[in-house]
Amino acid sequence: MPKVQETILEIDLNALKHNFEYLKSKLKNNTKFLAVVKAFAYGNDANEIANYLQDLNIDYFAVAYANEGVALRQAGVTKPILVLHTLKVNFDILIENHLEPNLYNAKILNEFIAFSEARKENHYPIHIKFNTGLNRLGFWENDVDYIVSKLKATKAIKVKSLFSHLAASEDLNEEAFTNGQIGAFKTIAESFSGALGYQPMLHICNTSGVLNYPDAHFDMVRCGIGLYGYGNSEKESAHLKPIASLKTVISQIHHIEKGESVGYNRTYKSNTPSTKTATLPLGHADGISRIYGNGKGFVTINGKKAPIVGNVCMDMIMVNITDIDCKEGDEVVIFDGKTTTAETLAEHAGTISYELITSISQRVKRVIIK
Ligand SMILES: *Cc1c(COP(=O)(O)O)cnc(C)c1O
Repeated sequence: MPKVQETILEIDLNALKHNFEYLKSKLKNNTKFLAVVKAFAYGNDANEIANYLQDLNIDYFAVAYANEGVALRQAGVTKPILVLHTLKVNFDILIENHLEPNLYNAKILNEFIAFSEARKENHYPIHIKFNTGLNRLGFWENDVDYIVSKLKATKAIKVKSLFSHLAASEDLNEEAFTNGQIGAFKTIAESFSGALGYQPMLHICNTSGVLNYPDAHFDMVRCGIGLYGYGNSEKESAHLKPIASLKTVISQIHHIEKGESVGYNRTYKSNTPSTKTATLPLGHADGISRIYGNGKGFVTINGKKAPIVGNVCMDMIMVNITDIDCKEGDEVVIFDGKTTTAETLAEHAGTISYELITSISQRVKRVIIK
């Protein structure tokens, strides 16, 4: 491994393969696998990851917004791509790139039917989302007859799948609620398919759904976080390998006298005569938000924890290395798969792995390890 000389996000495709195979081992042979690669594949590198998973013969991809799907098409992704959050303004790029919209309410359904009829589309693939308790996006159960009547009146679109999304699949205290969502989805799917006359694919599980609700995998599952190496629980995370490591170097070391302060607004003041700090070349513009400041977050240098001192700056953080034997130019680990995972670091600051990893900004160089 070459010496780290700047802030980098190392992405290990072998770990990705391991996670994919672990999650797949939980599925029946004919259950399809959709990889959620929204938000740059959770801050990693959507093009590299999607192409790699495509080579591993993944069935489907999902992105949040149409422009993310366009970028995948331009990078050579040919598998079907579901756009989870369809907006009318993107209908044209969506169809031009053969992306498959989620239609989640009457307005977007009717607008998409009108648009695809005007383009003389024939059976353009679409997906219908039902709200079963998350109360975010989706039709309600009593919309079934309305949707089916609209679908029967047009040849321009065809339903490839019906889906829903679980609100608390990682929380076993919410098992009754989740089973209620799954039951509601089954009821909806049966009445929908019965009225429609054909059987679209069904899917409801995200990563934690796959792991905690094996009887609810239906025809396809949608995994994001698990592919990237986090299982939303200690037990499941132990089977997975975080694919990304955020590393940097020490730019400068300072000796801080008693009473001196460090950083903006002087939130840290030394009360010992010999505090030593290291300045690192990454800050909130790189995705280490201000919530990690003032001791909430830490990095690892030569195997030892160095807490963040003072406020996080835009382009730098300072860490306490008083008890660490290190020098300028030494490597620093912010998170990886061994010493500190993104899940652990995020929890220290009161947030979740999803937020930390998707925040790593595009300024940070991605290094792919094959
Ligand atoms: C983001 C997302 C997923 C993936 O969830 P993970 O917990 O990361 O596996 C699945 N389905 C929908 C609708 C999503 O928005």
